[in-house]
Amino acid sequence: MAEKIKKSESEWKKELTPEQFNILREKGTERPFSGKHTNNKKKGIYRCAACGNELFLSDAKFDSGTGWPSFTAPISDDMVETEEDMRHGMQRTEVLCPKCGGHLGHVFDDGSKPTGQRFCINSVALDFKEED
Ligand code: FE
Repeated sequence: MAEKIKKSESEWKKELTPEQFNILREKGTERPFSGKHTNNKKKGIYRCAACGNELFLSDAKFDSGTGWPSFTAPISDDMVETEEDMRHGMQRTEVLCPKCGGHLGHVFDDGSKPTGQRFCINSVALDFKEED
């Protein structure tokens, strides 16, 4: 993993849109079916919207019906970090960008083949680059 990015919250606030800041830095969640990548079926790569770290390939994307972009796996295990999240009276596993520490979403074990996992990621936290 490349060097970690260390920025103050006020620096992030200047660089990110208010929506991105709310999700990536304040661990917010976008409304389901509101995000631009939820139904994207194009071939390409999804990167962290804050730092550009490569996170997910379109090959791992599946239609979960939840209203958020869903992936069976990251590009590689060290491309994302996970942490226990006990907020909102639930026990969940948070997914973070290891490079910038940004909040991406959560991972659940009710996913699709082959891993059975569902990485439930906010569209706002992702940049998509189409590839042939
Ligand atoms: Fe990042």
